[in-house]
Amino acid sequence: MAYKIDKSKCIGCHSCMAVCPMMAISVDADGKCVIDPAKCVSCGTCASVCPVSAIAPAN
Ligand code: SF4
Ligand code: SF4
Repeated sequence: MAYKIDKSKCIGCHSCMAVCPMMAISVDADGKCVIDPAKCVSCGTCASVCPVSAIAPAN
C-alpha cells in the first residue's frame, strides 16, 4: 500500500518531495506532486508535512 496525493487539495508547495526518504515524489506536468506507488514505503513523512492535508494512505 502506498500513500496518495489528492490533487484537488495540493497547492504545489513541494514540501512533501523534499522530505521523502525514498525519493518517491516528483512534480507532475500540472506543477502538483505525485507519488510513485512502486517506490513509496508508506512511512507517512510526506503526509506529516503537507500544509493542506492532501496526502493519505491509498485504499
Ligand atoms: S509515505 Fe513515505 S515513502 Fe511514501 S511518498 Fe510519503 S514520504 Fe515517501
Ligand atoms: S506537501 Fe501537500 S500541498 Fe505541498 S506539494 Fe506535497 S501534496 Fe501538495
